[in-house]
Amino acid sequence: MFSPAMLPDACLPPRSAASLKPPRFPILTFNDRQLSLSSGSVFNLKWLMPGESLVSILWKFACANALPGHVLVHLMSPDVDPSEGVAPVSDGIDLLRLCRILPLPVNVLRISLLDATLPGRYLSVFRFCRLCTAHGYHSVLHQLEGEDRCPAHLQSLETRCSHCHGETPYVVNSSVIEAPFRCVWCRSHFSYGHLSLLCTTPAMRRQDRIAIRRRLLLCSGNHINDTVSKVHHLSAVETGESPGC
Ligand SMILES: [Zn+2]
Ligand SMILES: [Zn+2]
Repeated sequence: MFSPAMLPDACLPPRSAASLKPPRFPILTFNDRQLSLSSGSVFNLKWLMPGESLVSILWKFACANALPGHVLVHLMSPDVDPSEGVAPVSDGIDLLRLCRILPLPVNVLRISLLDATLPGRYLSVFRFCRLCTAHGYHSVLHQLEGEDRCPAHLQSLETRCSHCHGETPYVVNSSVIEAPFRCVWCRSHFSYGHLSLLCTTPAMRRQDRIAIRRRLLLCSGNHINDTVSKVHHLSAVETGESPGC
């Protein structure tokens, strides 16, 4: 379960227009038989950056709706043990079911998954850019084996917690969902130590978004159909418009 001390920067009171807002209503009652969360859950497409990973999206969604990790995992994949979870890859996630849970366009969710949406192999452990995680962002690009630096900040990507040196599995399970932007073992934040809110206020700059978008398009260069949908989505996110399903 969440405690205030566990909340990531993205879940703290708003520090910029792009930041998450606190829930506008108490904890929702999520019934497995009523997958109609789209009309009753809190989420905003503008909270997302281009190429945001499903894990990053789910962290924000769970925080915004005070949703326990095991409930979210059960809603996504009712046949799996929430403590084991599922890999955030296109072959392991029921995209249509996910669309009924998260009020987001299917293109946004499709690009958040690994494998089918982006060519190349990916890491099974969470790999991150410290500056991105400080701003509450994790990209599918960070999980690709061929990428060793963040396209936005040009920093080396890391997998180990700076405190316990453990590696967090890149999987959607109850433990990971309940440790947003934190090490799943010791719950230390993935970003630099004790950043003040002022340090994270600038969030991701426009040039950061452009750099990530360009890298995404480059990585998907040979997949014409995918690229068309990605350009559509990324342009929409960039401009704040809402790409349709
Ligand atoms: Zn970065
Ligand atoms: Zn740790």
